[in-house]
Formats: sequence, C-alpha cells, structure tokens
Amino acid sequence: MTEHVNLSVIGKVDSPYKEKFAIPRQPGLVTAAKGQLRLTGSANHADAVRGLAQFSHLWLLFIFHGTQAQGWQPLVRPPRLGGNKKLGVFATRSTFRPSPIGMSVVKLDDIELRPCADQHSQVILHISELDLLDGTPVVDIKPYVPYADMITTAKAGFAQKPPLQTLNVLYSHKAQLTLTRMQADYPQLQTLITEVLSQDPRPAYKQQKLDDKRYGMRLYDVNISFQLTDMATVTVLAIEQEN
Ligand code: SAM
Repeated sequence: MTEHVNLSVIGKVDSPYKEKFAIPRQPGLVTAAKGQLRLTGSANHADAVRGLAQFSHLWLLFIFHGTQAQGWQPLVRPPRLGGNKKLGVFATRSTFRPSPIGMSVVKLDDIELRPCADQHSQVILHISELDLLDGTPVVDIKPYVPYADMITTAKAGFAQKPPLQTLNVLYSHKAQLTLTRMQADYPQLQTLITEVLSQDPRPAYKQQKLDDKRYGMRLYDVNISFQLTDMATVTVLAIEQEN
C-alpha cells in the first residue's frame, strides 16, 4: 500500500505562462519572466517572511498541478535527449512523478505586504526567472543558500549545461507594430517573447527538422503566433491581445 502524507498549500503563483507550452524547461533560462507568489491561508502572515528579504533567491517546492492527473510511469523521455530515449523518472526533472512535486530556484525581487480590509496584510513575493505555470500551488519556500546548494564540481549527466539558445528571433512588421502599441502596458513583452522563443519551445522531435507549422503560445493575456523561417530562425507572425 502506498503511504500518504498531507501537505499544505502555502501560496499560489501568478505567472505570465498561462499554458504549459513554451514554459522554459528550468528556471533562470528566461530572465524577463516575472510573477508573484501570493501566500494563502494561515501561511499568509507577515511574520512568516520576516528575514526572507536578505536572500536574493528562493527555492519553491510546488505541485505540478497541470499534469498530476495524468499519473506517472517509471520511464520517461527527457526532451533534452530528443524525446526518443527513455530514462528512469528519478534521473530526470519530468513533471510526471509519483509525488508530483517540482522545485525551482527563483529570484526574489521584492516582498510586498499589501494592506487588506481585515487586519492581516496580503503577503506577495515578487519573483522572476520562473518556470511555473499560472496558478501553481506552492507547498514550501526555502531560502537559496549558495554554500550548501551550489556544488560547482557536481556531475549532471545529460543536463551538464543549459540548453543551447539555438534560435534567432525576428518579428514581422505587423507584430512589431503591435508591440510598439502595447509597449506602455507590457514593457517587458518583447524581451519575454524573444527569450522564450530562442529556447525553441517546439516538441523535441520537431527540433531536428525544418517545420512549417504555425505555432501559438500564450503569455499574459496575449496570443503570439510564430513559425520557423529556417533551421536557426523563428519569426513572430502576429501578436493579439485577448478581449
Ligand atoms: N524546475 C522544476 C523542477 O526541476 O522540478 C520544473 C522542471 S520541469 C522540467 C519544467 C516544466 O514544468 C515546464 O517546462 C512546464 O512545462 C512544467 N510546469 C511548470 N509548472 C507546472 C505546473 N504547475 N503543472 C504542470 N507542469 C508545470
């Protein structure tokens, strides 16, 4: 029989990534990704974050809520290996795990205590460089401590280095005009799109060949369509804000 433990959700993430597609595969790869962690329930207490502002980075332990219903398998296909080689789930950072827990180091930009109608403030951690889906439930926060957490001599098998930024990102005239119009409301949008697309969000099996499919991704409330123009270049075709 599988043993169970109870965990408390201590907060929820507001993220520009509204769907799984195009989220970077690890934190730190897309620096323009900014979000918020709103503490919830009894964890939403100013005392619980006293001293945290001394740390530039945090570990977030969270639930892969977007995929947990799909269960898990002992073998998975890491995208880094082209999507066709299988490894044991515990040798990977796959989202499909027996306990659907993820861990990400994010940058802590600010801690806000927003006044509320009752006597408790809303605690909001402003975070960046995240790799988290919007609405991700967080079960713990720990400060990132370099002397213990950073092992510069560590071996990391197939993931020794960050993925190569393979793609140049161009914008159609139409997309560029839309960005200019949206600049005041979304000052970071172009940087975010460029960083996300340069990581090549297409499925691993598509990345080895020229592919003329028109893809769409959603960042904030903005739909972005793009297409490969050659093996090394992706062009943003259109940018549309949802109504
Ligand atoms: N840094 C974490 C870790 O190592 O546990 C996550 C690594 S996992 C390979 C990264 C992927 O998780 C992202 O590309 C995104 O597709 C997915 N993801 C992020 N938040 C999620 C969520 N709440 N539910 C399901 N999938 C999520």
